[in-house]
Amino acid sequence: MAEQDGPALPGTIGFVGLGRMGEPMVRRLAAAGVTVRGHDALPRPALADVVTLVDKAADVADGVPVVILMLPDSNVVDAVVRDAGLLDALAPGTVLVDMGSSEPLRTRSLAEEVASRGAVLVDAPVSGGVTGATAGTMTIMVGGPDDTVAALTPLLAVLGRVRHVGGVGAGHALKALNNMMSAAHLLASSEALLAGQRFGLDPAVMLDAVNGSSGRSGSTENKWPNFVLPGTFDSGFALTLMLKDIRIALGLAEATGTPSALSARTVELWAEAAAALGPDADHTEIVRWLRRTDPSTGE
Ligand code: NAD
Repeated sequence: MAEQDGPALPGTIGFVGLGRMGEPMVRRLAAAGVTVRGHDALPRPALADVVTLVDKAADVADGVPVVILMLPDSNVVDAVVRDAGLLDALAPGTVLVDMGSSEPLRTRSLAEEVASRGAVLVDAPVSGGVTGATAGTMTIMVGGPDDTVAALTPLLAVLGRVRHVGGVGAGHALKALNNMMSAAHLLASSEALLAGQRFGLDPAVMLDAVNGSSGRSGSTENKWPNFVLPGTFDSGFALTLMLKDIRIALGLAEATGTPSALSARTVELWAEAAAALGPDADHTEIVRWLRRTDPSTGE
């Protein structure tokens, strides 16, 4: 066990996916005294001081009780777990934690396969972005068996606020639904703020008033003031990843026969923005796309 004052943490864990979110997460884990054996498809030399880097995903699993995945989507999770041999490398009793935003039904099916090896799959996707990952203030929506989640909680608590929301797949379902709300809020608030601006209102003045009013959301409290108004558009969450998440949420709504007219329109608009802005766009750049007909700036 790692040396620290709080509850027991595993001494060593495996971690696959050292990207925008994975990097600050492994830095926090290392700072908490956990030894991290990590892998990414790309070389990550900047992490060599905090992570023992290995060349193959399967090699992170050797002798560790927990392996965390922080990968883009279910296709990549399948590629790493099924095709790249991680599944075969999991010893019985190992807990595989998918902290990316994957598809809940595919998570459930993967959980059965993992269980057939005597290991356990837990989904633990996060909200809070790169800022929350760096500060350890993410909300972590966990799906899995009670005893496994209880044993995992001290480790996850290094990364954020742990919420056990149901059985396996529940975390991934809730994360997609959360992002549908977030994506719709960003569109709605941006349309309103742009209209106010064209009417002559100052966006900073509008945000100050709205954030004490009923129109406030994560978009008005965080995304607009921190990434849109300064013009940096650098939240660290890709527009393509948001589109992936809201397609999952729309699929859930449709599969459950839930009214989803606004969700469907939200997906259409985000898909149009993704096509126009390209694969490297930050999700906050959807405001740039909305502004594209601004007569005063010609953008
Ligand atoms: P990212 O693209 O920055 O990182 C993903 C990493 O996975 C990359 O380093 C990539 O090289 C690696 N990778 C891809 N294929 C691989 C493979 N076959 N083997 C090994 N490594 C591979 O993405 P991110 O922003 O860190 O997001 C990760 C997950 O977290 C996504 O599911 C995303 O939806 C979710 N998420 C992101 C944010 C955010 O603000 N960025 C917030 C909440 C949730």
